[in-house]
Amino acid sequence: MDEGFEPDRTYAERRDRDDPLSWCRERFAVPDGIYLDGNSLGPLSADAERALDDAVDEWRELGIGGWTDADPPWFRYGERLGDRLAPLVGARESEVVVANSTTVNIHTLIGTFLDGLDDGAKILVNELDFPTDHYAIRAQFRQRGIDPDEGLVVVESDDGRTIDEERVVRAMDDENIEILFMPSVLYRSGQLLDVEYLTRAAHERDVLAGFDLAHSIGVVPHALSNHDVDFAVWCSYKYLNAGPGAIAGLYVNQKHFGATPALAGWWGHEKATQFEMNSMFTPAADAGAYQIGTVPVLAAAPLDGALDLIEEVGIDAIREKSLALTSYLVDLVDERLGDGTDGADDCSVGTPRDPERRGGHVAIEHPDAERIAQALTESGVVVDFRPPNVVRMCPSPLYTGYAEVWDAIERWRGIVDSGAYERFDTDRSGVT
Ligand SMILES: *Cc1c(COP(=O)(O)O)cnc(C)c1O
Repeated sequence: MDEGFEPDRTYAERRDRDDPLSWCRERFAVPDGIYLDGNSLGPLSADAERALDDAVDEWRELGIGGWTDADPPWFRYGERLGDRLAPLVGARESEVVVANSTTVNIHTLIGTFLDGLDDGAKILVNELDFPTDHYAIRAQFRQRGIDPDEGLVVVESDDGRTIDEERVVRAMDDENIEILFMPSVLYRSGQLLDVEYLTRAAHERDVLAGFDLAHSIGVVPHALSNHDVDFAVWCSYKYLNAGPGAIAGLYVNQKHFGATPALAGWWGHEKATQFEMNSMFTPAADAGAYQIGTVPVLAAAPLDGALDLIEEVGIDAIREKSLALTSYLVDLVDERLGDGTDGADDCSVGTPRDPERRGGHVAIEHPDAERIAQALTESGVVVDFRPPNVVRMCPSPLYTGYAEVWDAIERWRGIVDSGAYERFDTDRSGVT
C-alpha cells in the first residue's frame, strides 16, 4: 500500500488538488463519464483536432501543393514525426519514422530480418502476446515456405498473467532462435518487461531483439538506442492520443541501415531521388526505408498535434503520475473490492504490484469480468474486457483524476453488491 493512502474520497480530491498535471485535462475532449480506456483509444485533444483541421484547410487551399508548401510539408511528414517521436523511445532521429500500421510494420521488419538470416531461423515470442503479432510473424514464415509451427517458438506463462523473463532467456539458449520479439508491456496484465535485460541476454546469444511498444509508448520512457535494441514498432492511437487508425511508428537501430525492406514501396525510397521514378528501388539510408506507400496525411496530422502536449509535459512527469494513479487504483481495489473470497471480493489485481514492473493500466480479475465490464460501461465508466477474466482500467496521466478512479471503483462495488451486472449476457461479438 502506498504511503499515506486513505480510502475515502476526500483523499482523492486532495490528490487532485495537489496534482501538477491537472491542467492537462482541459486540453482534451474526454467523452462523458469516466474514461478509463485510453490504453485502447486515447481521446481527442484540442491540439490533435487543430492539426487535423489545418491539414484539411491546406488540402482545400493548396491541393497538391501541400506536399511541398504545407506547414509542415506533407512530403516529409513521416520523417518529421519520426524526429519528434525519437525522444519518447530514446533513439536517434534517423532511427525512427512513422508509417503504415503496427501490424504492417511487424510484417516488414520481421520479414526484413528473416531475409538476412540463414534457413532454419526461429523467432521467440510469448503466449500472452497481442494476437496480431503472431498472425504477422506466422504469415512471414509461410511466405518463405516455412511451417510457422516450426519457425515460431512460444514461451509459456506460469500464471496466465505474466511472462517470466528468466524463462525467455533460457528459451534463447536454443541455438536456432535468431530473433526475440516481445511486447514492452503485456496488453492484458500490464506487466512491463525489462527491455534492457532481455536485449542484453539476446545479444549474448547472437539473437536480434525486437519489441512491440504499443502499450508503453507515451506512458513509459524508453532508451532503445542506449540499450542497443535492434528494432521496435508501436501504434499511436493509445497513449499518444493520435486518433483511431492513426499512423504507426517504428525504430530500426542504425547498425541495420542499408538492408532491403521486405515490403518495399516508393515512399521508402531515398527521398532526394524518389521523384526520378526509377524502376529500381534505392531504399532510404535510414529508418525511412520502411515506409511503403504515400504517407496518410490525415492519419498523421493528429499525431503531430497530440505530441505538443506530451512534449510540453515530458515523458518522465507522465510516467510519474501514471504510476501514482495505478498505485492508487491497486490500493483501492485491495481496500474496496476485496480479498478474493466471494462476490465483489472475488477481485484480484493481475498486474504486477511492483511499480517498476507495470505499464500504464491495471488488470482487475473477476470470474464475471465480462458482465461487470458491460455494466460499468453502461453506467458511464468506460473500461474494456479481455478474455477470460480481466477488466482493464487505464487511468491516463494526462486526463484522469484520482477522484474519478475512486468513483469508478465505487461504481464497481455498487454493481457487484446490487447484482446489476447479472442482466448482461456474455456475447463476444463486436469491439470491446
Ligand atoms: C494495439 C496493439 C496492436 C495494434 O496493431 P494495429 O496494426 O494498429 O491494429 C499491435 N500490437 C499490440 C501489442 C497492441 O497492443
